[in-house]
Amino acid sequence: MSRIAVVGGINQDIVIHLARIPQPGETVHHGRLARYAGGKGANQAVAAARAGASVSMLGAVGADAAGEDLRQGLAADGVNTTHVASVNSAATGTALIAVDAAGTNSIAVAEGANFKIDPADVERAIATIQPIAVIGQREVPDAVTSAAFRAAPAGLRVLNVSPVDEEMSIDLSLIDIAVVNEIEAAQLAGHSTDDHEPPALAAAVASRTRRGCVVTLGAQGLVARIDGHDFAQPAFLTTVVDTTGAGDAFCGSFTAALAAGRPVEMALRWGQAAGAVAAATPGAQPSMPHAEHIRRVAESEVA
Ligand code: ADP
Repeated sequence: MSRIAVVGGINQDIVIHLARIPQPGETVHHGRLARYAGGKGANQAVAAARAGASVSMLGAVGADAAGEDLRQGLAADGVNTTHVASVNSAATGTALIAVDAAGTNSIAVAEGANFKIDPADVERAIATIQPIAVIGQREVPDAVTSAAFRAAPAGLRVLNVSPVDEEMSIDLSLIDIAVVNEIEAAQLAGHSTDDHEPPALAAAVASRTRRGCVVTLGAQGLVARIDGHDFAQPAFLTTVVDTTGAGDAFCGSFTAALAAGRPVEMALRWGQAAGAVAAATPGAQPSMPHAEHIRRVAESEVA
């Protein structure tokens, strides 16, 4: 199995479904509580593991019950949690999410332990694991993610540049492939091109990386420029239930397929197949499909 290290955020998502989202100063009663394992890093680790990779998670949780639950959840999916630190100086990363009857949400995040990761621990973990691929996002400090990419032996370095903001300090020339949605691509490329058509955005971001960029377009599929080749693929048809986690499913499955030696065009299909299944299933981590399911959609159904 291909060894993949995922460096990134591990969160508990505490969701309250309400008739409407409270305004500042207001209390809205009669909500329904749900708790989920989340964080883009943890979601992508589960997605890659279910897609067939041997995955190690690099990150931190608080020394609390939520942290222990999240660690056990990752382990239950076969993710190695040896390099997930338990820190005393902060609580487990937590997102408080209010969702109204129309599905609109309002989210408050306390990064907690995710911002207590020691870059030196991450470097040591990469040296021990010797992964053939490293995946990062932007829910832990950029210095931590950059340390992981710098320590990685020449291999596949994938950065899901999400979320994008003006503080972004990861040098894209450190990474092989950037994965972004259309909004993130426009934010990243905004200063380098006036043309906001997705292929132009993919080309603009690709030019700053070693190998390329994928721009995911939700139900419209994706465009990409990788190794100088342009790709445009429609999405797989699906009945949408909850698109949360579709982008994370894409990143984990795409990277696992590439790391396993699949050609770029097929790896993009694996990513899209996982994204379509995630969009058709509620929740983020629970909706990540397993390899057989991904293969069935990616290789035998027409996009
Ligand atoms: P993000 O969640 O990061 O915004 P996208 O919404 O672009 O990412 O979704 C990532 C991938 O998941 C898409 O490229 C597509 O393949 C798949 N996907 C997302 N939404 C749908 C959908 N409604 N129908 C089919 N596939 C989808």
